[in-house]
Amino acid sequence: MTRRRWIAEHWDEATATLVGAQAEHMTRVLRAQPGMEADVVAGGHVFHAQVAAVAAGEVRFNLIAELDADPALPVTLVMAVYKFDHMEWAIEKATELGVAAIAPVIARRTEKHLAAAAGKRAERWRRIVHEAAQQARRSDVPIIFDPAPLAVRVRAASEATRADSGTTCIVLAEQERTTTLRYALEEAVTAAGTETPRLEIAIGPEGGWAPSEEALFDANGWSAASLGPRILRAETAAIAALAVVASYLE
Ligand code: SAM
Repeated sequence: MTRRRWIAEHWDEATATLVGAQAEHMTRVLRAQPGMEADVVAGGHVFHAQVAAVAAGEVRFNLIAELDADPALPVTLVMAVYKFDHMEWAIEKATELGVAAIAPVIARRTEKHLAAAAGKRAERWRRIVHEAAQQARRSDVPIIFDPAPLAVRVRAASEATRADSGTTCIVLAEQERTTTLRYALEEAVTAAGTETPRLEIAIGPEGGWAPSEEALFDANGWSAASLGPRILRAETAAIAALAVVASYLE
């Protein structure tokens, strides 16, 4: 029988602890007792673990043995903020598909009220990825960066690319007609040599990228790539892009 998997909030080299809702669920619903076994994710590693102690609002495990972990896809999704319900659906699906990190950005065509509210929404997005990672039995939880202006992310990622040829920056553009995402991945693998490439993939808002943003990507060495001739919703583009990367790299 597959052991339940929990993602610990606190850990050290020998123990890991659940608190809050997870601990409540274990104690009230699963009636956790010392000796109960589970898989516990702590610090990006997965362990076969055993309940050591159950207290009010806290379950502590002894970590018995490290298990093989499935690495995340080496992708940071740079997602222009758009309608929160659609975006949160994409964040959950991207987590299931293995995304390593999500960097929400404020683009020119991000609706003003969404841009203003995004900063307060980041904690909710972090809860979504935690739950989705647990459900997907991931051995890590994707990072959700604090929302930032697009230009800040574009420039920072480009600096990382200059410092490290293993990182490739790709902007998904529906008007791109020559380079497919698949081809851009082939280029990224070649540039990374013996390493697995690390990818920053940017997806625009519902209104698409503004011409000044296309120029910003271009000036900072980002490669434009297409997901095909059809116009996809931003959330569909996120899922499609991760599926293409997974089919190519895994
Ligand atoms: N400009 C689009 C339109 O005419 O409806 C709206 C942008 S689309 C809803 C949101 C984002 O998804 C785009 O900015 C792009 O990043 C990505 N996207 C959608 N379809 C794509 C495609 N076929 N190829 C590459 N990216 C695509």
